[in-house]
Amino acid sequence: MQIGCHGSVWSGTFDVDGMRLAVSKTKEAGFDLLEIPLMDPYGFDVAATKQLLSEYDLAATASLGLNERTDISSEDPQIVAAGEQFLGKCLEVLSDVGGTAVVGVIYCAMKKYSAPASARARQNSVDAIARLAARGQDLGVRLGIEVVNRYESNLLNTGRQGLAFVRDVGHDNVSVHLDTYHMNIEEPDMFSPVLACGERLGYVHIGESHRGYLGSGSVDFDSFFRGLAHIDYDGPVVFESFSSAVVHEDLSRMLGIWRNLWNDSEDLGAHANSFIRNQLTSVTSIGMH
Ligand code: MN
Repeated sequence: MQIGCHGSVWSGTFDVDGMRLAVSKTKEAGFDLLEIPLMDPYGFDVAATKQLLSEYDLAATASLGLNERTDISSEDPQIVAAGEQFLGKCLEVLSDVGGTAVVGVIYCAMKKYSAPASARARQNSVDAIARLAARGQDLGVRLGIEVVNRYESNLLNTGRQGLAFVRDVGHDNVSVHLDTYHMNIEEPDMFSPVLACGERLGYVHIGESHRGYLGSGSVDFDSFFRGLAHIDYDGPVVFESFSSAVVHEDLSRMLGIWRNLWNDSEDLGAHANSFIRNQLTSVTSIGMH
């Protein structure tokens, strides 16, 4: 199992300097994997990133949210095509740096919609993800469908909805991606969605209710980690936290990061790495009872 950290813990920019900072600090904090915010795959330095990941012996994934111009759940075929092209480029970039998965809100725009998703919107998204899954299979890159709260998507707000979507896509390299921050808003509890997804759960974000220090909010991590142990989850477990101390302009606005919940990235990262590993050690021991 790989324990990872989202790049926004360290840097708001991902040019070569930002990437060096994120890669080195992720490694120093004890993580195995860096999740790269891939908001601009066209301006991404593939060669430098690949070299840094190799130098620091870190695995990599990428995450992103689509916008209104790349929304593959749109009813406008041109916007769907633009989104598919954009996601195809993301898969290529991640494959080129030796990464393993592209995750996040890759099935619709990451925004507050003002109406429910239509059946046509959902089908457009399912069809586009299925085509991208085939492309990902050729490139050796998995896709993680991140279930988020109602203010960031109108399509997938619960793990069970995510599971139904992934089943409709029907490709082995497309999985549900659960995030404890979003689950804490939308789910009935932190245990049953994990069990419901079972082997179709392929990616996990660990975030607090306010996206700050783990253990300082209202997320029931004990139940969540017990769920992971119950299904023998073995995929990436990635810490995600945001503060106005580290600003990525687009991402911060989209996610509503208005407050400063931490200043010291190194302390935050080391704490999260220990927190996640301690939880996993505890729940793994349940198998001996
Ligand atoms: Mn997340």
